[in-house]
Amino acid sequence: MSEEPTDDVDQQVATGALPDPPRVDELVHEAHRRYVDDDDGTVADYIPALAQADPELFGLAVVEAAGAVHDAGDAHRLFTIQSISKLFVYALVVDELGHDVVRDRVGVNNTGLAFNSVVAIELNDGHPMNPMVNAGAIATTALVRAASTAERWERVREGLSAFAGRQLRLNGEVYRSEADTNDRNRAIGRLLRSYGRLDGDPDDVVDVYTRQCALDVDAHDLAVMGATLADGGVNPVTGERVVSADVCRDTLAVVAASGLYERSGEWLFEIGLPAKSGVSGGIVAIAPGKGAIGAFSPRLDAAGNSVRARRAIRHLSRALGLNLFASAPAVAHRREERA
Ligand code: GLN
Repeated sequence: MSEEPTDDVDQQVATGALPDPPRVDELVHEAHRRYVDDDDGTVADYIPALAQADPELFGLAVVEAAGAVHDAGDAHRLFTIQSISKLFVYALVVDELGHDVVRDRVGVNNTGLAFNSVVAIELNDGHPMNPMVNAGAIATTALVRAASTAERWERVREGLSAFAGRQLRLNGEVYRSEADTNDRNRAIGRLLRSYGRLDGDPDDVVDVYTRQCALDVDAHDLAVMGATLADGGVNPVTGERVVSADVCRDTLAVVAASGLYERSGEWLFEIGLPAKSGVSGGIVAIAPGKGAIGAFSPRLDAAGNSVRARRAIRHLSRALGLNLFASAPAVAHRREERA
């Protein structure tokens, strides 16, 4: 990436307001009702334990940056966070190492290829490209400062728990199931090491990555975690500062570019929010300054994104006015407000 001169002006923020909390509550329940019978898509089965998920589960939650919480359906049913962990581990690492180091080491551009692509690594001279695909996420986990694998895992678990505002626990069954069938991720770890892009023992790093993916969360937790990134890095439920506001901005930019893998452009076009999905059926979508949506439904499309979670978030993005690219002419808008 070419060097840009730094521009030392204070960063101002672009944020807006949500409708009143009772209206948000109504809209969350309406979005849930609208899609509750939608059964498009198929449950992931490449990790044996995930194939056992109940496909009917459907949870939806919105947490406002101002702290109000709205839950609908199975918002408190646990599932493993999977790839959604990538965005929060990334935020923790950027907070620790800074914008430039992580940009150069992990990258910020979309691969246009599947989340577990090996070809993407080869096509880019061993560069992992971005932290939202497995290669970049494994490279990011390797950057968590720790003296041992056990300490690295504990720091990741503690960090993600601070985002959620409660102690997150490992789902041992899903962890073991993935660890036993994890050849592809181990291959990715070793390939990165062969290119000098990963320090330490690649199998140990992949083990921490596999554990972070097997942390149990629910749709409500995802909304709290996302709302922390929408709230300049302060968890709006616990009041704890988890990362800096600059880190939230950087993280949401990479999430917007690559959070839905090769479907990221389509997602921005339809929904207009940074969002991250995981193969167990979760999606978190973040509206900076306003709040976040957490959704869970196990049936997925071909790229590994939950179909019903996507549809419910699309509905809420429109109904709540969250699309970052939507505007109305300022003059007409002011006239309407005065009327
Ligand atoms: N643990 C899964 C994997 O590495 C996560 C993938 C995902 O959620 N897309 O394959």
